[in-house]
Amino acid sequence: MLPAIFVSHGSPMLALEPADARDFLARLPDLLPERPTAILVISAHWERLRPAVSAPAVNETIHDFGGFPQALFDLQYPAPSSARLARRVADLLSAGGMPIEIDTRRGLDHGAWVPLIVAWPNADVPVIQLSVQTRLGPEHHYRLGQLLAPLRNEGVLILGSGSFTHDLSSFRISGGRIDAPEQDWVHSFAEWMASALKEGRTADLLNYRTLAPEAAHNHPTEEHLLPLYVALGAGAGAVDHMHQSTTYGILRMDAFAFS
Ligand code: ZN
Repeated sequence: MLPAIFVSHGSPMLALEPADARDFLARLPDLLPERPTAILVISAHWERLRPAVSAPAVNETIHDFGGFPQALFDLQYPAPSSARLARRVADLLSAGGMPIEIDTRRGLDHGAWVPLIVAWPNADVPVIQLSVQTRLGPEHHYRLGQLLAPLRNEGVLILGSGSFTHDLSSFRISGGRIDAPEQDWVHSFAEWMASALKEGRTADLLNYRTLAPEAAHNHPTEEHLLPLYVALGAGAGAVDHMHQSTTYGILRMDAFAFS
């Protein structure tokens, strides 16, 4: 059975620049017990008021960022879509009392294709996306994960893609250096979260915003952390801290497996 995974995608430049987190993503397929038959990405970059799942005829590569080199805009990730998986996702959520829209236009945003182009560069595994509902917080996303858990037994990789810390307003601190020293307020938050995850303190995690140090500082808005809660909800208690690193002093690139 596949674990559910959370990865931090960091800067879109992860698709091109050397980084420890990039090396980890390149190894990710070898760390899984089986090759996924399809991937459901919960992307921080697809925010909707209500849950939506993508099912386009053809996955368009969405370059939803600005101010990066042309080489990044030239990248394409033409993985097949999967209307069948979208239907299955919709059925699971509807059966759990959570209505969901099937969006036949949405392609793959960089929350999905940046980590995937490193992990599965041949783009030969079908991929669809699930949106986040930023206003609905951790509990809603944990519940989404619980409803989606049966997919893990059907060869589907549930892949939350966000960022373990994500205060982009502090980016200037790094001076643009990917190896800038980690900020103390980033470290204290990430350590608290990692401990809570490894110790299975789900109630604390669901209340991270009041309990974790520097929570609102690291996540001024929650969309980059909420994919973690979907993966957590899809797991069954075992937590593996698969990767830990920091880029630009403020972006923790941690990854976790939930099985
Ligand atoms: Zn992002």
